[in-house]
Amino acid sequence: MDVNIEVLIPEQDIRDRIQEMADALSERYAGENLLLVGILNGSVFFLTELAQRMSIPVEIGFMAASSYGAGTTSTGRVLVTKDLERSIDGVHVLIVEDIVDTGQTLHLLTEMLLERNPASLELAVLLDKPARRKVCLDADFIGFEIPDVFVVGWGLDYNQKYRDLPFIGVITEE
Ligand code: IMP
Repeated sequence: MDVNIEVLIPEQDIRDRIQEMADALSERYAGENLLLVGILNGSVFFLTELAQRMSIPVEIGFMAASSYGAGTTSTGRVLVTKDLERSIDGVHVLIVEDIVDTGQTLHLLTEMLLERNPASLELAVLLDKPARRKVCLDADFIGFEIPDVFVVGWGLDYNQKYRDLPFIGVITEE
């Protein structure tokens, strides 16, 4: 099947916006020890760009997780397939993710990490799709709000492909 990909957010707009986010984060966490926690695999491109553009030193860690269950906070579970290798007790933690869609995975992950007693826990996402939200979840730092369309690029995949596109595109099947 051929796919057609239309540009939704051009590369330069994304890089400019990430610079703005990096500036805001550098100010927010100035003087603190900050751990960026990237959620694999989608966060990798955003996290790399964000970290390189921040003007304060940061630590980096990764987790991989998927949510399952009936789709509500009370019954949903998160399966952690890769966990952090260090304690976050007393540490300022910023979760970095490609997109918030239904919000389920990040909601459950946030609850789990909060039990580990971080000094603070905030969330930075490149994209926010509020129309699809199923649980209450607000990211603290958002790159772009997008409509309810399926997007690829900057870590986001379609059947594991197109993560490496340097723009955000919308798939239109031909
Ligand atoms: P949710 O917020 O728990 O529904 O899950 C978010 C995850 O779904 C993201 O980390 C992405 O991996 C995936 N996802 C959501 N929307 C899109 C999209 O438009 N394109 C590609 N992946 C998406």
